[in-house]
Amino acid sequence: MSKILIVEDEASIAELEKDYLELSGFDVDIQNNGKNGLEAAMSGEYDLMILDLMLPGVDGFEICKTVREEKNMPIIMVSAKKDDIDKIRGLGLGADDYMTKPFSPSELVARVKAHLARYDRLVGYREAHNEVIEIRGLKIDKTAHRVWVNGEETQFTTKEFDLLTFLAENPNHVFSKEELFREIWNMESIGDIATVTVHIKKIREKVEFDTSNPQYIETIWGVGYRFKI
Ligand code: CA
Repeated sequence: MSKILIVEDEASIAELEKDYLELSGFDVDIQNNGKNGLEAAMSGEYDLMILDLMLPGVDGFEICKTVREEKNMPIIMVSAKKDDIDKIRGLGLGADDYMTKPFSPSELVARVKAHLARYDRLVGYREAHNEVIEIRGLKIDKTAHRVWVNGEETQFTTKEFDLLTFLAENPNHVFSKEELFREIWNMESIGDIATVTVHIKKIREKVEFDTSNPQYIETIWGVGYRFKI
């Protein structure tokens, strides 16, 4: 089921949108201010966002711009002012669609469905052409920087992602902490190599069923780490 995020400070409008979308089988959350809206949008939990322009705190312009830099989900922007819609279009913030209030909720639902279908096709195309590493229950999409653990998408920081990908691309090879530190942090080994240990621990917490008995990244005592294949 697709998850929709509504960022809207007018409760009656937000509730109306939510009701219609839920009737069409969507899972819907509402955030009524810019700060929480932005946070929710960046969580990676949602498939599409309906974003009001005028919001307390962070406004819709800012949210759209920030989200677009990082996320690929469709964004439908709504505003009470036709002028504002023209302005957003002009700014090229990367919204996928614009609607002027008041609009009919069924028109909104139709547009939501159309955008989700379009994104699915796009993502399907991209995934088919992406560089993907699959080892047992672990799937790493290098092109999209996304990771799935047993079918569930899991969030990794950039360094965790780089480290996991490097190890998975070089299975059965033991790397010392110094080597990994140089490889991933791109520095001569004068930094704190304990960073490597900390990152390995975090990765294990995300990928391993039992961290005391790792199935992916093994510790080779006194030497370093090895990705088990
Ligand atoms: Ca508003």
